[in-house]
This record gives sequence, C-alpha cells and structure tokens, in this order.
Amino acid sequence: MRGSVAAVAAALLCQAVPLAGAAVRPLCGTGRNAGVCFASVDRNGRLSAAERAKLAAAAPVAVDIVSSRAFAAELAAFHAALPARWVKANRYWRGFDPVEATAAIQTAFAGLHIDTRGGAQAQRDARFGGNLAYEGSTDARTGERFILLNRYRLDRPAAGLVGTYVHEAAHKAGYSHRAGQSPDQKCEPPYVMAQLARKLADPESWPGYAAGKNACRFWRTMK
Ligand SMILES: [Zn+2]
Repeated sequence: MRGSVAAVAAALLCQAVPLAGAAVRPLCGTGRNAGVCFASVDRNGRLSAAERAKLAAAAPVAVDIVSSRAFAAELAAFHAALPARWVKANRYWRGFDPVEATAAIQTAFAGLHIDTRGGAQAQRDARFGGNLAYEGSTDARTGERFILLNRYRLDRPAAGLVGTYVHEAAHKAGYSHRAGQSPDQKCEPPYVMAQLARKLADPESWPGYAAGKNACRFWRTMK
C-alpha cells in the first residue's frame, strides 16, 4: 500500500515537471510561433506583480507580430519606399533584407531574458536622454543573453514595450543606428522595426504616434 502511494507521489512529481514548464509558456509566441520564447522577465525581482505581468504580456505579442505577414510586408514596403539617395548614403539600409531581418529578430527573441535597470544613471538616462532600455549583453559565465528595460520608463502602453523588445532584439541581431542623435536616427532599422511593431500592436494610436517626433519622418511622407 505504501509502495503504491509512493508510486502515485512519484507520478505526481513527474507531472510537476511539464507543469513547471507550462508556467513560462506566456513568454512564447502563439500558434506556429509557440516555439519562440523569451527566457524570463525580471530575474532580479525588482518589479511589482503588475509591472511584471505587463512586461510578460508584451512578449508573445512581440513574437507574433515580428513573424506576421503584415510585419514582413510593411517592412519590405517601407524599405522599398525609402528615398533611393538616402539609402545609398546609409550603411544601415544599404543591402537591408527585410526577410533576413525579421528572421534574425525572432532568433534574438528566443532565450532572451528581459531584465530591468534602475539606479541614478538609469534615472538620468530616462530624464535627459529619453532612454527606454539598454541593449544589455551576454553573461560571460552562463552565456545567457539579456536586455535591460529602464525601470523609470515602464509606465508606457504595452505597444511601446513591444516596440522596445523589437528594438533591443534588433541590436542583438546585429542591426545598429548612429551613436549620436542625428535627425534621422529614428529612421534607422532598429527604430523603424520597433515603430512598425508598435503600429501593428496598437493600430489605433498609430496615426498620432507617426505624427510625433519619436517616429521616423519617412512614415509621414510615404503612402
Ligand atoms: Zn538602439
């Protein structure tokens, strides 16, 4: 009798493994993107439960949007509509391949930890530099990759967080933008792909967003 109880307990323990795995499923995409999963949110436990839930909820949205037909089509259309002379002089857009870029971002999403950064420097960066997040790096010891969201800029619409994940993952995928603040920085690939993800995450707020200074000026002249 005791033996069978132990067997049942062992069976329950075995079941606990997939259940524990199921707990991280919310960080994965859905449907055919179910295999693309962020690794974690807030490893250091610095966020409130509500903040953590909000950051986690944006993860599957980002995965699904970047792999959507709409994202690929709109990115290709944007690229094609860029002024030819401007592209020719721009090392980030010259030779840009929208299909390659979306695949690279999906690859960067997989296994990525969404951490946060606070402290005086992050506060200054948020206030004076408009910083939303940091690219983060790879843990030399574990090989784990992470991005750092600025804890002073978490009070944003979910679509904005989706854009931030795309922007930072684009960096992980090797896409860059000018270090200095040039008028066109918001038109470089990491920004444009983030803006497009934001558009698809919240189409209703897009016209207002596209008209503002955070969106690439070319969105306003294309159509
Ligand atoms: Zn950047």
